[in-house]
Amino acid sequence: MKQILIADKILIGKELVKNKAVIINEDKIIDVIDAFESEITHIPAKTFPSGSILMPAFIDTHTHLASYGLSLTKPNLNNFKSKKDVIDYSKEYIKNFERDIYIFLGYDESKWTDENEITKEDLDKISKEKPIIFRRICGHKAVLNSKALEIVKNIQGVDFKTGIALEYLPLNIYEIFKPTIEEIKDGILKAQEIAINLGIKSIIDITNIESFKAYQELKREGKLKLRVGIVLYERYFEYIKKVGLEYNFGDDNLKFLGIKIFLDGSVGAGTADKLLKTNEELEVILKDCQNHNVQLLAHAIGQNAINQFINIFEKVVKNNYLRHRIEHFEFPYYEDIKRVSRLNIYVSMQPNFVALWGGFDNMYAKKLPLEVLKRCNPYRTIFNENINFAFGSDCMPLDPFLGIKGAVHHFLENERIDLNLSLYLYSTAGAKFLFMEDKIGKIERGYYSDLIVIDEKNLNLIETCF
Ligand SMILES: [Zn+2]
Repeated sequence: MKQILIADKILIGKELVKNKAVIINEDKIIDVIDAFESEITHIPAKTFPSGSILMPAFIDTHTHLASYGLSLTKPNLNNFKSKKDVIDYSKEYIKNFERDIYIFLGYDESKWTDENEITKEDLDKISKEKPIIFRRICGHKAVLNSKALEIVKNIQGVDFKTGIALEYLPLNIYEIFKPTIEEIKDGILKAQEIAINLGIKSIIDITNIESFKAYQELKREGKLKLRVGIVLYERYFEYIKKVGLEYNFGDDNLKFLGIKIFLDGSVGAGTADKLLKTNEELEVILKDCQNHNVQLLAHAIGQNAINQFINIFEKVVKNNYLRHRIEHFEFPYYEDIKRVSRLNIYVSMQPNFVALWGGFDNMYAKKLPLEVLKRCNPYRTIFNENINFAFGSDCMPLDPFLGIKGAVHHFLENERIDLNLSLYLYSTAGAKFLFMEDKIGKIERGYYSDLIVIDEKNLNLIETCF
């Protein structure tokens, strides 16, 4: 059924324009007309309040939706104020739900009013027959009961006396205790609902093969409402090459794109200036990606890893038809921004990082020298260099509105991005990252009607129109 959408402003190209209306039919945009024309047609109109912006739905070019979804399927202990409450709740949960292994997330002993320590003995009181793991809110620590300890015999960082596991086990909990495809699907559906309620219609999920299978099943069952591009971790590269899976294989709802590698760490962990691969290793991977038609996403936060990637790219790649990307690109040298532009390297950035950790007295300022801090997420400079540059969330958290606030209120005033451009970078600009710039991300005749309406002042979603 045809419908006219009338909002206060519409994002057309990079501009917010007034007095326009959009006609949609089924899942397509069929016309953009002058608002006054809507009165002389017989097509039913839907008018949104003053302050509303009609725009292409958000495209999150770098996220981890499936793994976020999985965490939503696990019981969470974060809101409890005492150890007693945590233990009572866990007992109840185990009574009510049948699981092979019970993983509880998010406990925070620093908030407890009774005691501030939890060990194997406490968990054994919950159950001795069923394996139980509590993972701390930070994700770097876990506690296991005796039954769970029996399963993890040869895993590093586990103290069998106290049941406390540091780093490896908690960080890789879903790899060590593999969820079933059904659990992953359940999680994706939960996270999908959250994404849609934030106005996200398309994502690039960086994930594992189990989640890729789960997405395929959901699509067959008609339950996948998001458009999903899949990027797999580097450890699957050998299989991908053997099978011959190539970039952009799939359709408008689910496609494979490529692999992701890590070239450095993070500011928070103090490893953003540490190179994780040698030039030779990176060159082999990039050449392999070229030869096998696989897109490469290179995680590079600090200037050294960014510089390394550009150097190797310049040597190996003549034409970036695979749209190889740098992820995060947080502290580039100015000359390297120019080179990225010249070489047509794609860049995905996470403005929520600036919202969360930017500023002259926040985490980045504490961890980095001022000279580096002044190169923090230079959106305006990058934008002015005409780079294929788009926003994403990295699921920290999954929230484009937080990112937009980060870009608009950047603590480096000359690197701020106006609202219209921030919206553009979180929607239109992301379409190329999915090889879908002819189908999504624009309010133009023939495009999918992946549209949303947001409130300009409060920066929240009013409605999805897809
Ligand atoms: Zn990520």
